[in-house]
Amino acid sequence: MKDYQAIAAELEKRVEGEVRFDRYSRLLYSTDASMYEIEPIGVVIPRHKGDVQAAIEVANRFGVPILPRGGGTALAGQTVGHAIVLDFSKYMNRVLEVNKEELWCRVQPGLVQDELNAHVRSQGLLFGPDTSTSNRATIGGMIGNNSAGAHSLTYGKTLDHVLELTVYLSSLAGRTG
Ligand SMILES: Cc1cc2nc3c(=O)[nH]c(=O)nc-3n(C[C@H](O)[C@H](O)[C@H](O)COP(=O)(O)OP(=O)(O)OC[C@H]3O[C@@H](n4cnc5c(N)ncnc54)[C@H](O)[C@@H]3O)c2cc1C
Repeated sequence: MKDYQAIAAELEKRVEGEVRFDRYSRLLYSTDASMYEIEPIGVVIPRHKGDVQAAIEVANRFGVPILPRGGGTALAGQTVGHAIVLDFSKYMNRVLEVNKEELWCRVQPGLVQDELNAHVRSQGLLFGPDTSTSNRATIGGMIGNNSAGAHSLTYGKTLDHVLELTVYLSSLAGRTG
Protein backbone atom coordinates (compact mmCIF):
# COMPACT_ATOMS: atom_id res chain seq x y z
CA MET A 1 0.00 0.00 0.00
CA LYS A 2 1.53 3.32 -1.11
CA ASP A 3 1.57 6.29 1.22
CA TYR A 4 -0.29 8.83 -0.95
CA GLN A 5 -0.07 11.56 1.70
CA ALA A 6 3.70 11.25 1.66
CA ILE A 7 3.69 11.52 -2.15
CA ALA A 8 1.52 14.66 -1.98
CA ALA A 9 3.73 16.19 0.71
CA GLU A 10 6.89 15.56 -1.32
CA LEU A 11 5.28 17.02 -4.46
CA GLU A 12 4.15 20.10 -2.54
CA LYS A 13 7.71 20.67 -1.43
CA ARG A 14 9.15 20.40 -4.93
CA VAL A 15 6.48 21.69 -7.35
CA GLU A 16 5.70 25.39 -7.88
CA GLY A 17 2.46 24.64 -9.72
CA GLU A 18 -0.61 23.03 -8.21
CA VAL A 19 -0.68 19.73 -6.37
CA ARG A 20 -4.20 18.41 -5.96
CA PHE A 21 -4.80 15.19 -4.07
CA ASP A 22 -8.26 16.06 -2.68
CA ARG A 23 -11.20 13.84 -3.58
CA TYR A 24 -12.96 16.48 -5.69
CA SER A 25 -9.93 16.93 -7.94
CA ARG A 26 -9.38 13.20 -8.22
CA LEU A 27 -12.97 12.74 -9.35
CA LEU A 28 -12.65 15.59 -11.86
CA TYR A 29 -9.67 13.87 -13.45
CA SER A 30 -11.12 10.36 -13.31
CA THR A 31 -12.81 10.73 -16.70
CA ASP A 32 -11.95 11.96 -20.17
CA ALA A 33 -13.83 11.74 -23.48
CA SER A 34 -13.78 7.94 -23.28
CA MET A 35 -16.18 5.61 -21.49
CA TYR A 36 -13.61 4.79 -18.80
CA GLU A 37 -13.49 6.11 -15.25
CA ILE A 38 -10.44 5.55 -13.05
CA GLU A 39 -9.52 7.71 -10.08
CA PRO A 40 -5.96 9.02 -10.28
CA ILE A 41 -3.60 9.01 -7.30
CA GLY A 42 -3.48 12.79 -7.56
CA VAL A 43 -2.99 15.64 -9.98
CA VAL A 44 -0.05 17.96 -10.65
CA ILE A 45 -0.57 21.09 -12.72
CA PRO A 46 2.97 22.11 -13.67
CA ARG A 47 3.93 25.76 -14.16
CA HIS A 48 7.14 24.97 -16.02
CA LYS A 49 9.38 22.13 -17.11
CA GLY A 50 11.15 22.06 -13.74
CA ASP A 51 7.83 21.01 -12.20
CA VAL A 52 7.51 18.22 -14.75
CA GLN A 53 10.96 16.92 -13.89
CA ALA A 54 10.23 17.16 -10.15
CA ALA A 55 6.95 15.25 -10.52
CA ILE A 56 8.67 12.49 -12.49
CA GLU A 57 11.43 12.22 -9.90
CA VAL A 58 8.92 11.98 -7.04
CA ALA A 59 6.85 9.39 -8.92
CA ASN A 60 10.03 7.38 -9.55
CA ARG A 61 11.02 7.55 -5.90
CA PHE A 62 7.62 6.27 -4.74
CA GLY A 63 7.25 3.76 -7.58
CA VAL A 64 4.02 5.18 -9.00
CA PRO A 65 3.16 5.95 -12.65
CA ILE A 66 2.66 9.37 -14.18
CA LEU A 67 0.10 10.20 -16.86
CA PRO A 68 0.34 13.36 -19.00
CA ARG A 69 -2.90 15.04 -20.02
CA GLY A 70 -3.83 17.87 -22.37
CA GLY A 71 -7.47 18.53 -23.24
CA GLY A 72 -8.53 15.02 -22.18
CA THR A 73 -10.42 14.51 -25.45
CA ALA A 74 -8.77 11.20 -26.37
CA LEU A 75 -11.39 8.55 -26.97
CA ALA A 76 -9.74 5.37 -25.75
CA GLY A 77 -9.06 6.17 -22.09
CA GLN A 78 -5.48 7.36 -22.61
CA THR A 79 -5.70 10.07 -19.94
CA VAL A 80 -7.37 8.15 -17.13
CA GLY A 81 -5.47 5.81 -14.88
CA HIS A 82 -4.30 5.16 -11.33
CA ALA A 83 -1.36 7.51 -11.69
CA ILE A 84 -0.21 11.02 -10.95
CA VAL A 85 -1.89 12.99 -13.73
CA LEU A 86 0.13 15.90 -15.15
CA ASP A 87 -2.26 18.48 -16.62
CA PHE A 88 -0.37 20.67 -19.10
CA SER A 89 -3.35 22.72 -20.27
CA LYS A 90 -3.58 25.30 -17.49
CA TYR A 91 -0.14 26.92 -17.36
CA MET A 92 2.18 25.31 -19.94
CA ASN A 93 0.20 26.61 -22.88
CA ARG A 94 2.25 29.34 -24.56
CA VAL A 95 3.67 29.97 -28.01
CA LEU A 96 7.40 30.49 -27.36
CA GLU A 97 8.74 31.38 -30.80
CA VAL A 98 7.58 31.58 -34.42
CA ASN A 99 10.04 31.48 -37.32
CA LYS A 100 8.10 32.60 -40.37
CA GLU A 101 11.01 32.23 -42.79
CA GLU A 102 11.77 28.62 -41.85
CA LEU A 103 8.12 27.76 -41.13
CA TRP A 104 8.46 26.40 -37.63
CA CYS A 105 7.34 27.36 -34.18
CA ARG A 106 8.24 26.33 -30.66
CA VAL A 107 5.35 25.86 -28.23
CA GLN A 108 4.56 24.42 -24.84
CA PRO A 109 2.62 21.12 -24.84
CA GLY A 110 -0.59 22.47 -23.30
CA LEU A 111 -1.23 24.97 -26.12
CA VAL A 112 -4.62 24.46 -27.78
CA GLN A 113 -4.47 24.06 -31.56
CA ASP A 114 -6.95 26.87 -32.34
CA GLU A 115 -4.96 29.23 -30.11
CA LEU A 116 -1.78 28.43 -32.02
CA ASN A 117 -3.58 29.13 -35.28
CA ALA A 118 -5.07 32.37 -33.96
CA HIS A 119 -1.53 33.40 -32.98
CA VAL A 120 0.02 32.77 -36.43
CA ARG A 121 -2.94 33.66 -38.67
CA SER A 122 -1.85 37.28 -39.15
CA GLN A 123 1.44 35.96 -40.59
CA GLY A 124 -0.45 33.85 -43.13
CA LEU A 125 0.46 30.60 -41.37
CA LEU A 126 -1.59 27.58 -40.25
CA PHE A 127 -0.84 24.43 -38.26
CA GLY A 128 -2.67 22.07 -40.56
CA PRO A 129 -3.85 18.77 -39.04
CA ASP A 130 -7.46 19.81 -38.50
CA THR A 131 -8.54 17.59 -35.64
CA SER A 132 -12.24 18.18 -35.06
CA THR A 133 -11.60 18.94 -31.36
CA SER A 134 -9.17 21.72 -32.31
CA ASN A 135 -10.79 24.23 -29.94
CA ARG A 136 -9.57 22.19 -26.94
CA ALA A 137 -7.07 19.61 -28.20
CA THR A 138 -3.54 20.52 -27.14
CA ILE A 139 -0.36 20.11 -29.15
CA GLY A 140 1.01 17.64 -26.56
CA GLY A 141 -2.15 15.53 -26.82
CA MET A 142 -2.09 15.75 -30.61
CA ILE A 143 1.46 14.47 -30.63
CA GLY A 144 0.53 11.72 -28.16
CA ASN A 145 -2.32 10.59 -30.41
CA ASN A 146 -0.72 11.54 -33.75
CA SER A 147 -3.97 13.38 -34.40
CA ALA A 148 -5.31 13.94 -37.87
CA GLY A 149 -8.35 15.53 -39.46
CA ALA A 150 -10.68 15.67 -42.41
CA HIS A 151 -8.01 17.35 -44.55
CA SER A 152 -5.06 15.16 -43.55
CA LEU A 153 -4.48 14.10 -47.16
CA THR A 154 -3.50 17.73 -47.69
CA TYR A 155 -2.13 18.73 -44.29
CA GLY A 156 -0.67 15.44 -43.06
CA LYS A 157 -0.91 14.11 -39.52
CA THR A 158 0.54 15.78 -36.45
CA LEU A 159 3.73 13.72 -36.43
CA ASP A 160 4.48 14.83 -40.00
CA HIS A 161 5.03 18.30 -38.51
CA VAL A 162 7.07 17.54 -35.41
CA LEU A 163 10.68 18.66 -35.88
CA GLU A 164 12.02 18.38 -32.35
CA LEU A 165 10.77 17.58 -28.84
CA THR A 166 12.15 18.30 -25.39
CA VAL A 167 11.21 15.28 -23.26
CA TYR A 168 11.81 13.93 -19.80
CA LEU A 169 12.29 10.18 -19.67
CA SER A 170 11.27 8.61 -16.38
CA SER A 171 14.23 6.24 -16.63
CA LEU A 172 16.60 9.22 -16.53
CA ALA A 173 14.79 11.34 -13.93
CA GLY A 174 16.96 12.18 -10.97
CA ARG A 175 20.23 11.62 -12.81
CA THR A 176 22.48 14.53 -13.57
CA GLY A 177 25.08 15.00 -16.29
C1 LIG B 1 -15.94 14.43 -30.62
C2 LIG B 1 -14.48 14.06 -30.85
C3 LIG B 1 -13.95 14.20 -32.13
C4 LIG B 1 -12.61 13.85 -32.37
N1 LIG B 1 -12.10 14.03 -33.62
C5 LIG B 1 -10.81 13.70 -33.87
C6 LIG B 1 -10.24 13.93 -35.17
O1 LIG B 1 -10.88 14.49 -36.07
N2 LIG B 1 -8.97 13.51 -35.38
C7 LIG B 1 -8.22 12.95 -34.38
O2 LIG B 1 -7.06 12.61 -34.64
N3 LIG B 1 -8.72 12.77 -33.14
C8 LIG B 1 -9.97 13.15 -32.86
N4 LIG B 1 -10.48 12.99 -31.59
C9 LIG B 1 -9.59 12.50 -30.53
C10 LIG B 1 -8.88 13.66 -29.77
O3 LIG B 1 -9.74 14.76 -29.64
C11 LIG B 1 -7.64 14.14 -30.50
O4 LIG B 1 -6.76 13.06 -30.74
C12 LIG B 1 -6.91 15.29 -29.76
O5 LIG B 1 -5.89 15.79 -30.60
C13 LIG B 1 -6.29 14.89 -28.45
O6 LIG B 1 -5.78 16.07 -27.85
P1 LIG B 1 -5.89 16.31 -26.26
O7 LIG B 1 -5.13 17.52 -25.89
O8 LIG B 1 -7.31 16.24 -25.80
O9 LIG B 1 -5.09 15.02 -25.75
P2 LIG B 1 -5.34 14.14 -24.46
O10 LIG B 1 -6.59 13.35 -24.64
O11 LIG B 1 -5.22 14.95 -23.23
O12 LIG B 1 -4.05 13.17 -24.55
C14 LIG B 1 -3.87 12.32 -25.67
C15 LIG B 1 -2.61 11.47 -25.44
O13 LIG B 1 -1.45 12.30 -25.43
C16 LIG B 1 -0.74 12.14 -24.20
N5 LIG B 1 -0.21 13.45 -23.81
C17 LIG B 1 -0.88 14.61 -23.64
N6 LIG B 1 -0.05 15.61 -23.31
C18 LIG B 1 1.20 15.07 -23.27
C19 LIG B 1 2.50 15.58 -22.93
N7 LIG B 1 2.69 16.86 -22.62
N8 LIG B 1 3.55 14.73 -22.96
C20 LIG B 1 3.38 13.42 -23.29
N9 LIG B 1 2.18 12.87 -23.61
C21 LIG B 1 1.10 13.69 -23.59
C22 LIG B 1 -1.78 11.62 -23.21
O14 LIG B 1 -1.18 10.89 -22.14
C23 LIG B 1 -2.60 10.73 -24.10
O15 LIG B 1 -1.98 9.48 -24.29
C24 LIG B 1 -11.80 13.34 -31.31
C25 LIG B 1 -12.35 13.21 -30.03
C26 LIG B 1 -13.67 13.56 -29.80
C27 LIG B 1 -14.22 13.44 -28.40
